[in-house]
Amino acid sequence: MNVVVLLGAPGAGKGTQAPLLAARLGIPVVATGDIFRAAVRDGTPLGMEARRYMDAGQLVPDEITVKLLLDRLARPDAAAGVILDGFPRTGVQAQALDKALAERGQAVSAAVLVDVPADELERRMSGRWICRASGHPYHETFSPPKSAGVCDLDGSDLYQRADDRPETIRARLDQQLGALTEVIDHYRASGVIASVDGLQGIDAVGAAIDVALSEHGVAPLAGQVS
Ligand code: ADP
Ligand code: ADP
Repeated sequence: MNVVVLLGAPGAGKGTQAPLLAARLGIPVVATGDIFRAAVRDGTPLGMEARRYMDAGQLVPDEITVKLLLDRLARPDAAAGVILDGFPRTGVQAQALDKALAERGQAVSAAVLVDVPADELERRMSGRWICRASGHPYHETFSPPKSAGVCDLDGSDLYQRADDRPETIRARLDQQLGALTEVIDHYRASGVIASVDGLQGIDAVGAAIDVALSEHGVAPLAGQVS
């Protein structure tokens, strides 16, 4: 079972790379941000709770997030492996994931940091549009859809996230980068961290992720080499 963690600051390109990598590896993406946004859209109690934090640019508390993630990992489609986008985001979350995997005799295979400097992150988030159906990300300048306002992949309409406003972008960077450092340190200590230059174009970042993963023994399933 391959458990791949995609790490990066808000706006680094995790959500862009995750579905591409999922297609290459043949395993699903679990993105906690997408799950929280779906809950907000559906007006569930989880969504109402999570929204308070998301709108303020803060992390949703560990207790809520860990439970959500572990429930998702227990579903059958995650049995062959999973790509985690946006989880873990704190040291506590990283430890909880390790513990849950260890109970099944498993461990994180690789944690790939998509490394992008802060000024570029602001540019990326402020031009980001995502699709209503699945959260596929686009950028008005760097990665526009083929047809304006419509997702290339599923045809749903594109919108700008409520937390991609300039003041919330700054709050997210201020409040979340410290915790990202904790998570990087956690995976450095367990020897599974790899770093790729996220300033390259989308295809080059994907190729660098593949190289980093193969160095950690994660390879595409037979027949799915891109
Ligand atoms: P994250 O999931 O890490 O927050 P996204 O994948 O949503 O990041 O990317 C943030 C924004 O940057 C999106 O608008 C996306 O289209 C754009 N983007 C992603 N990767 C690149 C890249 N390599 N070069 C330029 N823009 C990118
Ligand atoms: P991005 O990587 O672009 O910041 P995400 O879509 O991954 O965005 O997350 C959006 C928001 O959802 C975060 O700012 C945070 O409030 C919440 N969130 C997502 N994942 C987590 C997590 N693992 N722990 C706590 N909060 C999370």
